[in-house]
Amino acid sequence: MTTCKHCGKAIDDPHTTTCIRDFIEYQDDVTLQRLRYTDDEKEQCAVCHVNPGAFHHRGCYMERCPRCGQRLISCGCLIRGKEWQQPIG
Ligand SMILES: [Zn+2]
Ligand SMILES: [Zn+2]
Ligand SMILES: [Zn+2]
Repeated sequence: MTTCKHCGKAIDDPHTTTCIRDFIEYQDDVTLQRLRYTDDEKEQCAVCHVNPGAFHHRGCYMERCPRCGQRLISCGCLIRGKEWQQPIG
């Protein structure tokens, strides 16, 4: 079982459909609300298994950066926000 350190829920539990709604703090004190997994998708997130329209669990590499729209773990906006880059598992 894999537990998300951010919301405390079991990622591989089918009853866990979303992470928590919160904010991302960037190194220059800009804070933006996290982006949801797009509800255009028909399937759950292949990585962290949340529903379309829900929030990815922390560390999911499918999560988009609300600042630049690229993948949050690799876009480079979060230089000091390293904890967000810890992979699941
Ligand atoms: Zn995900
Ligand atoms: Zn979570
Ligand atoms: Zn970014």
